[in-house]
Amino acid sequence: MKIESVLAQIGSLSEPGTGAVSFPIYQATAFRHPRLGQSTGFDYSRSKNPTRAVLEQAIAELEQGDAGFACSSGMAALQTVFALFSQGDHLIVSLDLYGGTYRLIEKVMGRFGVTATYVDTNDLDALESASRPNTKAVLIETPTNPLMMITDLEKVCGWAKAKGYIAIVDNTLLTPFFQRPIELGADIIVHSATKYLGGHNDVLAGLIVTKGKELSEQVAFLHNSIGAVLNPQDSWLLMRGMKTLALRMERHQYNATKIAEFLQAHPMVEQVYYPALPSHPGYEVQSRQSSGNTGIFSFRMKDARTIEPILRHIRLIAFAESLGGVESLMTYPAVQTHADIPEEIRRQVGVDDRLLRFSVGIEHVDDLIGDLSNAFDVAQAELV
Ligand SMILES: *Cc1c(COP(=O)(O)O)cnc(C)c1O
Repeated sequence: MKIESVLAQIGSLSEPGTGAVSFPIYQATAFRHPRLGQSTGFDYSRSKNPTRAVLEQAIAELEQGDAGFACSSGMAALQTVFALFSQGDHLIVSLDLYGGTYRLIEKVMGRFGVTATYVDTNDLDALESASRPNTKAVLIETPTNPLMMITDLEKVCGWAKAKGYIAIVDNTLLTPFFQRPIELGADIIVHSATKYLGGHNDVLAGLIVTKGKELSEQVAFLHNSIGAVLNPQDSWLLMRGMKTLALRMERHQYNATKIAEFLQAHPMVEQVYYPALPSHPGYEVQSRQSSGNTGIFSFRMKDARTIEPILRHIRLIAFAESLGGVESLMTYPAVQTHADIPEEIRRQVGVDDRLLRFSVGIEHVDDLIGDLSNAFDVAQAELV
């Protein structure tokens, strides 16, 4: 079956008792045992819940992995995966990283003796020189957020395998609809399902997919032991969102491409970072390893003084954090999402005070361009 069909039918064949097309919410923590030594397959909801299990099976299938795990947030998913590591272990991590992941590694995992080196994960020489005898894994975001740097997954996962490292990919920005890293050699996929998978800015969730029996068993143990699992209501809400993922991603991509082209031609804009544009350095790799582009991109204004009035004058586009929902949101990474990353690292990767990030929603593209165009005009007028 094609992925559009798998998505639309999530949970629809899983309730033979009643034939319910929408899988029910099993709001129960405990399950009756028929008799001693027997089980329905469910005993306690932290370990396994029927609603969550349907979601977990769906994401495993969509990502072509062996097991799926639903967590209470993207950070909870990352924390569960990081619990694979022990004191003294070392990670190699994408340089232009999600701020919350950087904070978790440095401020939390660091206290447990796990260290990390941040490199451009598309640079094999940089990866090689970051390697240490105690390195255990490489964590890749592609595209990165906000600068949309692209990593060649087949190349880097192959390198990791040869080194004996676990290859972890945060696939939040592309979702399995556009990119399936396990097919390119990844061992573990992590999602902030709060973003495109949920898609409506109304559910906080994280997902993990593992490849291979050993890793699947280890993560299952940690998922249950740590307990940061997704509740049945939110599991249902997430599946509800995922049913329309294909339609939404196509519209996000269409709108984002049109708007990126508009901005690239605008005299007030210095640079647009979007891998769908042939001028982007990652264009060729991105076209090869994924079937489409995400709905977020960043752009740098020529004049830092235009940022404040633009954010004040956008109307349809909300000045808000987060990404991946049907509503368009614009954020200012240097002071919001990436405030926890030291200024020195931020500047090194290019997250400066003239950079804006745009999560393009599914509104009509003409209305979005009109809103931007108007805010730009007012900002320009305020300058003089
Ligand atoms: C948002 C995000 C996270 C964190 O997920 P939450 O659901 O907010 O906890 C992790 N990685 C990426 C790439 C994200 O965008």
